[in-house]
Amino acid sequence: MTLRPAVFIDRDGTLTEEVGYVNHPSRLQLLPRAGEAICRLNAANVAAVVVTNQGGIARGYFTEDVLQAVNESLYAQLARAGARLDGLYVCLHHPTEGEAPYRARCDCRKPKPGLLLRAAGDLGLDLAQCTMVGDKVSDLVAARAVGAGAVLVLTGYGRGEWEYRRERFDVQPDHVATDLLDAVDWVLARRVAA
Ligand SMILES: [Mg+2]
Ligand SMILES: [Zn+2]
Repeated sequence: MTLRPAVFIDRDGTLTEEVGYVNHPSRLQLLPRAGEAICRLNAANVAAVVVTNQGGIARGYFTEDVLQAVNESLYAQLARAGARLDGLYVCLHHPTEGEAPYRARCDCRKPKPGLLLRAAGDLGLDLAQCTMVGDKVSDLVAARAVGAGAVLVLTGYGRGEWEYRRERFDVQPDHVATDLLDAVDWVLARRVAA
């Protein structure tokens, strides 16, 4: 089987508005141009895979049923934009909050790379041809851990992270993009050039 390229996409602050804990589907809102970004990945046959920490489950702020409803809203909003995801991977854990099984030192809470590795196995991805796009340094660290490219977006926490904290980053981004669409265009342009 030929391994596929992918773009791993953080959810809150990268694909959707950063609003704190999304404990109701009504709080989930695609960022401007985010649907178009996923459409371009679909058209280029590059897998679009969301990888998101949802520690609010371990903290007891919302249940997996609520997360399911939020996911359905995400799929519906993307479908309205003519876009679809190839995968959606969620870490439900927190290392110190809540109760088992959600209270856990898991291998999947970013900056750990478990979600990316699971997606690569499930979807047949070539991690060397993958890029992670996110608004926090934890997204960049997860990317670097698996040999994927790392792009920071300036939406969500990204602008503050980049302007005020970049000298403390453990991993520097390969590119800084204004938003997800800009990030996707950078990834796709490099594929054409390669
Ligand atoms: Mg984020
Ligand atoms: Zn986890």
